[in-house]
Amino acid sequence: MPVENNNGDTRYKIRQNSWLAKMAAWKLKTRSVAFVLGSTIHLHNVSPAEFLENKSWLRHELCHIRQFEQHGFFIFIAKYIWESIRHGYYNNKYEAEARRAENEE
Ligand SMILES: [Zn+2]
Repeated sequence: MPVENNNGDTRYKIRQNSWLAKMAAWKLKTRSVAFVLGSTIHLHNVSPAEFLENKSWLRHELCHIRQFEQHGFFIFIAKYIWESIRHGYYNNKYEAEARRAENEE
């Protein structure tokens, strides 16, 4: 079962050993992965405790949860994919926003 958490106004769940995150790690050729679908943060090769301790990483993923809330589940996925196709992963405006959120207190 995912763990329920609360960070200010952002409610989220954490799913450990997610097979979706495992596939993402394989695709991205990285060891540890966290990614957001709706209000759930999927983790692979990182424990929830380690992830929550990494505040800038947590803030990045919480920003994506707010993006899902703002746009709606399917619309956000469509917009995100469209942004990635047009500008690439790094310059995707939703990733840029999440990177800015990393440094916010
Ligand atoms: Zn991101």
